[in-house]
Amino acid sequence: MNRLGNELNKLVNRSLDRHVRLAVTGLSRAGKTAFITSLVNQLMHVSTNPRLPLFGAVRDGHLLGAKRVPQLDMHVPKFGYEEGISALLATPPDWPTPTKDVSQTRIALRYKPQKGPLKLLQDSATLYLDIIDYPGEWLLDLPLLEMDFLTWSRQQAKALKGKREELAQQWLEEGETFDPLAPADEAAIERLSARFTEYLFKCKAEGGLHWVQPGRFVLPGELAGAPVLQFFPLVWLDKLSEQELAAAGDDTNIGMLKSRYRYYQQHVVKAFYKEHFSKFDRQIILVDCLQPLNAGPESFNDMRQALDQLMQSFRYGRSSLLRRLFSPRIDKVLFAATKADHVTPEQHPNLVSLMQQLVNEAWQTASFEGIKMDCISLSSIQATAPGFVEYQGKQVPALRGVTMSGETKTLFPGEVPRRLPGDDFWQQSGFDFMNFRPLNIQSDEPLPHIRMDKALDYLLGDKLR
Ligand code: GDP
Repeated sequence: MNRLGNELNKLVNRSLDRHVRLAVTGLSRAGKTAFITSLVNQLMHVSTNPRLPLFGAVRDGHLLGAKRVPQLDMHVPKFGYEEGISALLATPPDWPTPTKDVSQTRIALRYKPQKGPLKLLQDSATLYLDIIDYPGEWLLDLPLLEMDFLTWSRQQAKALKGKREELAQQWLEEGETFDPLAPADEAAIERLSARFTEYLFKCKAEGGLHWVQPGRFVLPGELAGAPVLQFFPLVWLDKLSEQELAAAGDDTNIGMLKSRYRYYQQHVVKAFYKEHFSKFDRQIILVDCLQPLNAGPESFNDMRQALDQLMQSFRYGRSSLLRRLFSPRIDKVLFAATKADHVTPEQHPNLVSLMQQLVNEAWQTASFEGIKMDCISLSSIQATAPGFVEYQGKQVPALRGVTMSGETKTLFPGEVPRRLPGDDFWQQSGFDFMNFRPLNIQSDEPLPHIRMDKALDYLLGDKLR
């Protein structure tokens, strides 16, 4: 009888155990790897972690413990938590190496249920948390699903202005002699695709630009070198008439480009939304607002445009493209301005306000049915200590940290604008920060952070009641 009771108990437990899939994204270098490393680390120390006062489940003692368990999706690479922690514990400490593809890790959270049937039936329950990391650049591809190759080519041609046009010079010059109507020449397409991909890489690395399409070209993951990533927009279309374009067969250069584009739409973009995105329950979008503030207006406006595009993936209006593809499940989205430790604490409210402005406009005008949204600022791994220095007889806020080359510095990086920066901000250009080394930590203590507990409370708090 007792055994039967135990078995029954196990069965009930299993059926009542719950599971949440938390997706973490952001454009490259937004801080995804640092965020996930810290999140796992904070949870691993949950029973003794004094650094989580804003995470209700920990503060009130309902979260009993956490354990890393094998992930279920065996075809998705594992997130490199151990490697990240080793880098942070090294002498001198270093930042974890960023991931470039989708990756995943799973944590079992043991907690005391506070309400509902779980409270009546069990002293403790388990919430399985899957954390999925994927590049935000992949979300920039959603609009491709609604554009055919020629429309996309025209859109890309329009975007080739200013810095972009300069960075694209080599590709544009070599493409001048490419004849779209000639028989398909795979080698020429491969060569020009390589030039186009170099241009996209330069946009990110040299131009401080974030809107790159197709997003997979800069973060190809397992598709590196595959023909599906070998195409480019025909930005020289005005040389050809509509009739000529329509009459071109599949065996021409344009025919091959069109067919690769269609393949990319179906097997890369759509596949990501169906296989991964459609299964997410919660989403955090990390945004580094500070780097574009450092880089200047073109970079800032470009990041804004990339964010607007990224948010299209959360528009679930009744007739939205996504709803036609699958039934979306995400019910909460958190926008987090990362690396808050790069600025002095009295600037943090400005950082949140700026983040709100960046996303709110798009949020207000679009239909995000049934999705809650919030904005915060955080530092996943705090690398500076705030304090004050005396300047012209007054105490002014400052930060102290060790630069990547090992120098200890005290500085005031500048004021974060409260609102979207206008001309006066750029003329004064009063903002300047540098990269710091992570602080030295002991292996048995949780990583120092700013407001990771607030993020955890927002993303998981209700699931642990
Ligand atoms: P990813 O490409 O989105 O995975 O970005 P990472 O997590 O690798 O972060 C990129 C870089 O940003 C790191 O190497 C650090 O230099 C910096 N960084 C990330 N998070 C923080 C943070 O909380 N504080 C500070 N000071 N720097 C950070």
